[in-house]
Amino acid sequence: MLNLILFGPPGSGKGTQAAILKNKYQLIHISTGDLLREELAAGTTLGVEARKYMDQGLLVPDEVVIGMIASKLDEKGSAINGVIFDGFPRTVAQAAALDQLLEERNSCIASVLALTVGEEELVKRLVNRGLTSGRADDNEETVRKRIIEYNAKTKPVADYYRQFGKVAEVAGEGSINEINAALLAAIDAVG
Ligand code: AMP
Repeated sequence: MLNLILFGPPGSGKGTQAAILKNKYQLIHISTGDLLREELAAGTTLGVEARKYMDQGLLVPDEVVIGMIASKLDEKGSAINGVIFDGFPRTVAQAAALDQLLEERNSCIASVLALTVGEEELVKRLVNRGLTSGRADDNEETVRKRIIEYNAKTKPVADYYRQFGKVAEVAGEGSINEINAALLAAIDAVG
């Protein structure tokens, strides 16, 4: 199974690139942000709880997202080519939980594709996206909080996977096609 993590700060293009890679490799795309927004839209208890964090640009508690991933993996079963994780794991605890969940299913992460984008470019992209996304968290104040949260809690996830030699850094600035080509090269290098 080709299990990939598309890693990077908010606004680095994870969702855009995940959608392309998903089609190319016939993968299941799991975005915890999308799953949480579905819960918000459906007005579930989980969604109401999660919104308090999301609207402030803070991470939702680990147990909530880990539970969502576990049920998603069970729902999809083993008859899949692999999964592309987008926006998960976002803490070292989530990464360790994911490794455990995959190991229990005789699988593992093949590669962590880390998109690198400068901070001002991230803010520019997300504030711009906010003009059309309808997302309450795509405004400058919340975007800056999301980046602080990323630097404090999510960046260490790359170090966690670096100890297993699984991280490939890919420049996340340029055209969608250029970035995609760089990602494909990094995936090919995994073999
Ligand atoms: P995203 O769509 O990936 O930018 O996520 C939007 C928001 O959902 C984040 O700012 C967090 O509040 C929440 N969220 C998404 N994924 C996670 C995760 N893996 N862990 C904690 N919170 C998350």
